Amino acid sequence: MAQQKPSEDRRKRDPKQTPEPFTAKRGKAKEPIFVVQRHDARRLHYDFRLERNGALASWAVPKGVPLEPGEQHLAVHVEDHPLDYATFAGEIPAGNYGAGTVEIWDSGTYDLVEEKRNGGLTVRLHGERLNGLWTLIPARLGGNEKNWLLIRKRDEDGGAPPGPRRTYAPMLATLAEAIPHDDGWLFEIKWDGYRIVTRMAGGDPEMRTRKGQDYGERFSG
Ligand code: MN
Repeated sequence: MAQQKPSEDRRKRDPKQTPEPFTAKRGKAKEPIFVVQRHDARRLHYDFRLERNGALASWAVPKGVPLEPGEQHLAVHVEDHPLDYATFAGEIPAGNYGAGTVEIWDSGTYDLVEEKRNGGLTVRLHGERLNGLWTLIPARLGGNEKNWLLIRKRDEDGGAPPGPRRTYAPMLATLAEAIPHDDGWLFEIKWDGYRIVTRMAGGDPEMRTRKGQDYGERFSG
């Protein structure tokens, strides 16, 4: 992977105009760190960053980090960021590069499992949300060398078993005497019908009602 000059990041961002960090100092942790920042900019994306050679190698992932084994998402290789950027969350003011809101979606440490000669990386992430193996491949999608793939790998070497599946319940209407009038509310008519949560796993949707019934067949095709 070609190292990019720090000046590219620096050229795009003006420290007088944005609260984002610019320095590169850090303490001595043994493991390299990773961070995923949810960046609600002109287009929502997730910035996937790995500590590499004293900086944060970075990819913008429009669809977010793939969570199901075998799933792969476009990851656009962008300029390195300084290490301190890993803890940044907040507003990038309008008019600046990447203007919008940055939240830390996950962070932690990682082990470098494999580094290919073409720059491809396999890492084992140890985060709050992300635990397991991911591979970054310089796939040059559409002939563009910035267009990499981020792939969720299956854990094959008896690593930690996958945790219990997260479960979600559908939102339900609540009977009330009056409607709230503050800002930030939207109203919609409660139609009769099914409330179903759909889970997509490796291209395979699963549809469950709030009582856990499988409605996949009923609504297939
Ligand atoms: Mn970004």
